[in-house]
Amino acid sequence: MMKWSLSCLLIFCIAAKAQEKLCKDFTDIPAMERAAFAARTTNAFRSSASANFKVNFYRCSWKADPAIRYIDGRVAAYFTVTASTNTIVFDLTNVLTVDSIFFRNQKISFTQNANSTLSMQFPVTLNSLQKDSVVTYYHGVPDNTGFGSFIQSSHAGVPVIWTLSEPYGAKDWWPCRNGMDDKADSIDVTIIHPSQYKATSNGLLQNEITVGSLTTTSFKHRYPIASYLIAFSVTNFVVFNNSVQLGNVNLPMITYVYPESFNDFQPYTYKVLDAMQLFHNTFAPYPFIKEKYGHTQFGWGGGMEHQTNTFLVNSDNGLMAHELGHQWFGDKITCGSWQDIWLNEGFATFCANYYFEKFDTTAYRLTMINHLASIVSQPAGAVFVTDTSTVNRIFDSRLSYYKGAFVLRMLRFTLGDSLFFRGLRQYQSDTALQYRFARTADFKRNMELVGNKSLDYFFNQWIYGEGYPSFTVQWGQNRNNWAKIKVSEITSHSSVPFYKTPLALTFKNATQQKTVTVQCNANNDETWADIGFVADTVLVDKDRQIISKNNQTIKLPSPSLLQNDIKIYPNPVSSNQLHISLRNPSEKQLMVQLFNAAGQLMWRKLFDTLGQDELLDVPFAGYSKGVYLLKLNAGSSINITQKVFR
Ligand SMILES: [Zn+2]
Repeated sequence: MMKWSLSCLLIFCIAAKAQEKLCKDFTDIPAMERAAFAARTTNAFRSSASANFKVNFYRCSWKADPAIRYIDGRVAAYFTVTASTNTIVFDLTNVLTVDSIFFRNQKISFTQNANSTLSMQFPVTLNSLQKDSVVTYYHGVPDNTGFGSFIQSSHAGVPVIWTLSEPYGAKDWWPCRNGMDDKADSIDVTIIHPSQYKATSNGLLQNEITVGSLTTTSFKHRYPIASYLIAFSVTNFVVFNNSVQLGNVNLPMITYVYPESFNDFQPYTYKVLDAMQLFHNTFAPYPFIKEKYGHTQFGWGGGMEHQTNTFLVNSDNGLMAHELGHQWFGDKITCGSWQDIWLNEGFATFCANYYFEKFDTTAYRLTMINHLASIVSQPAGAVFVTDTSTVNRIFDSRLSYYKGAFVLRMLRFTLGDSLFFRGLRQYQSDTALQYRFARTADFKRNMELVGNKSLDYFFNQWIYGEGYPSFTVQWGQNRNNWAKIKVSEITSHSSVPFYKTPLALTFKNATQQKTVTVQCNANNDETWADIGFVADTVLVDKDRQIISKNNQTIKLPSPSLLQNDIKIYPNPVSSNQLHISLRNPSEKQLMVQLFNAAGQLMWRKLFDTLGQDELLDVPFAGYSKGVYLLKLNAGSSINITQKVFR
């Protein structure tokens, strides 16, 4: 999902005409609602439903009049028992009234509990792996948690009802398994509503049948779906159709909008079709390709990725691309706990950024600038959510959205495009994850498989660790235009003492520039790079590939040759020659002198160095066993005395 912030919108409109910034700002959510959510969220992984069954199928029938905040429901749940029992427990708020529950055509006893659960008692014991079903009849005014769950409102004076259940709101208006551990294999949804309105939901429309003043609108969805992604809306929608060619499938794209908004949506909706083809070709086939994709306008200030039918406030192309991206990352593969929300939101943000990269480079550049500025605006904060008790933290725009997406950008930079996108495709096709749930470790495992190397360090520093590095780059060039580069880091948070990372450095002068990528494996690492011209400036991470802040460069007068650039070997000298290797010496000549233990000069030579890697030989034939002193001198930069053994 993605929420608009008015302040961000205004700033962005000033910065870039016709480009609008998306971001989340939860200051408009009443503290009361947050407290209500906190009180209900005691377990990050599961609902309060019993663990002794799995849902296979829901057949939902909801009667709703958009003028009244009220629901009349009949939900048939087909399930498989996973442990022998005569009772199962669903999630359902006790604000709603359950009228009756039928099991094998007989009423059974049930209890609505204070912890928003509904216990059902069967007259028989069901054995493990036994399949059965219950039908629950209920009614009332739904509860109101999270982002509202079940909203009755109006537009242009016309009433509307829409649902938005993420993260735990499904149980506010229907009996379900509300957790992040079970998807129904498929659903049927029927909405019974006043006949002047239209209803929209997940999957494919089956029929709209009007009898008297009521219309019955039915949908079927034949893919696995999490309870929070099931939704419907009713108002005086107008409907228009687009379609998009995906391989040999012409996928219907169906949009339900308020009549007064038709001209705001209809001319722009084609933009999501570009994103659809891009994601379909880049990640995996559109996950619900046998059905449809659609948009439904709603009044909440953002978008929500209801499966096959995104609800959204307007036709902004970035918002549309974000919610479409969720169909792969969030709906097909759903975060297995709210701790891993970045697998939904970081990825969807990455998808919208990727769409901008391909279709709107100005927006792309501005988005990267804004996201990075937000990420480093505070010195702490991890992508991984350790505190799932508040909706603010789970859906924190800086960490779950921007930093999550930037971590993917950094992973792409670290692995290269080929491996990175191969990893995403492998993740999308992982049979243990697709149409199911994933944790961060599941994504990491797939990315490690394609690169065949551990990414422990990467995830520890960027997903579980907090903060960011600040780089200091010291550099100087020798007479052959090689640059000696020394990179130092300080970090903004003690959880990560050092960030191992590639870092792009752009050397430039008035007419030339060259970017080299150095690998920072340890603090104060030094390396050489052939620049090819005399540079006057170095830009650190010009294209914002790495999260960092307050980087600086220090130009040194000339690079000095350090001890670790000179190797003297073998020592002891076992052959008739001693070798001296020099890496990119800055001096033109090197004086080599060999003394014996008594201080007598045994041998000397002034070598011309060519400036790049050099290998010099000192003859050792006929020398007796003992200790010798080798002295190397060149200008001011080299003055080394080394004991050599024979
Ligand atoms: Zn989202």
